[in-house]
Amino acid sequence: MQILKTIDAIRQVRWAELSLSWGLVPTMGFLHAGHLSLVERACQENDRVGVSIFVNPTQFNDAQDLEVYPRDMDRDLALLKEAGADLVWTPEPETVYPSGYQSYVEVEEVTTLLEGAARPGHFRGVTTVVAKLFNVFQPNRAYFGQKDAQQVAVIKQMVRDLNFNLDIVVCPIARDHDGLALSSRNSNLSPIAREQATCLYRALNAAQSAFAQGERQAESLRFIMIDLIASTPLARLDYVSVADPISLVELEEITDHALLSMAVFVDNTRLIDNVIIGE
Ligand code: AMP
Repeated sequence: MQILKTIDAIRQVRWAELSLSWGLVPTMGFLHAGHLSLVERACQENDRVGVSIFVNPTQFNDAQDLEVYPRDMDRDLALLKEAGADLVWTPEPETVYPSGYQSYVEVEEVTTLLEGAARPGHFRGVTTVVAKLFNVFQPNRAYFGQKDAQQVAVIKQMVRDLNFNLDIVVCPIARDHDGLALSSRNSNLSPIAREQATCLYRALNAAQSAFAQGERQAESLRFIMIDLIASTPLARLDYVSVADPISLVELEEITDHALLSMAVFVDNTRLIDNVIIGE
């Protein structure tokens, strides 16, 4: 497994193996089984797999959040080697955003809702860095987790709009034994907060069960989720949503399928989770 820091070095490897198919897995590191499931899928579907580890400063709208974001490069590299990655890009921030940097990619409507509304500027940072990763790696396929449902919708929109020549592959949410979606941020939870953090999964399940029993009013499903979060002492709801999975526009009535999603602060850690119903 090669570990490279510069853009030129990545390009040299990529262009030396032009005829081989490449899969790319963008990450911010502090890897867990969710990230590794993306790497494993990429290994199955491509001749070569590249992974980026970069805590992208432009997608953090809160300097404190960026500062406390967990990092462990040595452990990450060992996990990636074991998972079968061929190449890892670990750029310095100055490599991605050299002094004088002034170009950004902005997707419009779909970034104004949910995470975009709660975290102004977040998706501008995400689309900018992902567009740069696509330009550097020129992958045939790029792998993203359904865990970040809006990120998937935004990146698919960007790929369509800007004619990036690659396939976006979406992988299912990897969960802990009690249903909590795996996240690098889970490491910031105290033991008691970790216990209560299952409230997101339980709320989504409760709404999904109501849907299975015939409830089609989106507002009823929102209330079910809000109630469950409200009854969790350490949880504070940021938003809850029942929306169209592609446009992310809120629904009144569910006619075919819907994306149930939420963001919740458990203690001071902001967690997100989602499920698609009606598939
Ligand atoms: P991050 O390092 O948080 O930026 O995540 C890198 C990629 O891993 C993104 O495409 C995430 O959606 C994906 N990912 C993060 N957590 C999970 C999970 N629990 N299950 C599946 N994919 C995940």
